[in-house]
Amino acid sequence: MTGVTLSNVVKKFGPVEVIHGVNLNIEDGDFCVFVGPSGCGKSTLLRMVAGLEQTTSGAIRIGQRDVTNLDPAERGVAMVFQTYALYPHMTVAENMGFGLRMNGHAKDEIRAKVAEASRILKLDEYLDRKPKALSGGQRQRVAIGRAIVRGPEVFLFDEPLSNLDAELRVDMRVEIARLHKEIGATMIYVTHDQVEAMTLADKIVVLRAGNIEQVGSPMDLYADPDNRFVAGFIGSPSMNFLDGVVEEGRVRIPALGDTVIDTSVALPTKGKVLVGLRPQHLNVTAGPSDITLDLRERLGGVSYDYLNTPQGERLIVESRDDAMLPEGTAVQVGFDPSDALFFDPETEKRLR
Ligand code: ADP
Ligand code: MG
Repeated sequence: MTGVTLSNVVKKFGPVEVIHGVNLNIEDGDFCVFVGPSGCGKSTLLRMVAGLEQTTSGAIRIGQRDVTNLDPAERGVAMVFQTYALYPHMTVAENMGFGLRMNGHAKDEIRAKVAEASRILKLDEYLDRKPKALSGGQRQRVAIGRAIVRGPEVFLFDEPLSNLDAELRVDMRVEIARLHKEIGATMIYVTHDQVEAMTLADKIVVLRAGNIEQVGSPMDLYADPDNRFVAGFIGSPSMNFLDGVVEEGRVRIPALGDTVIDTSVALPTKGKVLVGLRPQHLNVTAGPSDITLDLRERLGGVSYDYLNTPQGERLIVESRDDAMLPEGTAVQVGFDPSDALFFDPETEKRLR
């Protein structure tokens, strides 16, 4: 049992509170991703689990143990950072074995553990090289290897792929997913990149300004967000949000030529709602309209159409149509009303 539990965890730096009482239960063997914009507290929360930051109040448990006041070395965790921090004068094998050597482990045991990590990470042919003779991706694999040889109960990753170029990032993402499958240990992974979160996580924790906005599986968060923030953060390109006016239990959308849609959600009796529509759920056809197709981004398999509405709202539509409309065309926007999500414009909470 080596899940991780956070109970009412608060962090203050001096007088400034940056984590506001976080409750979270990460199951044994979960791949849990903390995602959120820069400065929301992801690293601080992870560093508190690692023991690199003191917890101001609340408790952290790893398995059955309360680790809140334990030293990092006593917690059974290993952390991988964005910067690899390898020792330049040591070989790959020496870098990976260094922690064990410092703790007085026997040479044979160190050799066996390094060999096992090297096999998992496909580093066998690089064991005698120095870090400067490795690519960025290989260096990051060594840093992960250093964590593996310590045999931690919980792996902690803080934006480990941010220093890699885009192609390598995708490769390493797959490697880390494979590593989790093979080792099966609990992993907590911090990223600001929602694509990384979606592809790696069993469980995503969306953070904003020191609070958890929502916890769920990737597809839960995508299909069933609790609020506007999560709806806009998860999914690429972002969900479109349009003003809607409630009229006799239905919603009129001025930006879409006063389209009126039915819905079974509990709407307020009158006033405004925010209508959320994913780019994947919209389609465009040429027709009399005061909406124009302003710009098209072609990505090969799909295109993104950027539309301007007379209200000045911007809409993105994903299209796969071969007979694509030219830029500047007047377009009508179609969608299935059951794909629309509704939010309270004041609280930004989802209406269900
Ligand atoms: P993230 O990793 O999500 O980008 P951080 O956890 O690094 O965010 O930071 C969360 C907040 O805490 C930020 O406002 C940051 O400025 C603040 N913060 C982080 N570390 C310190 C520190 N050592 N002293 C003071 N403020 C800090
Ligand atoms: Mg950070």
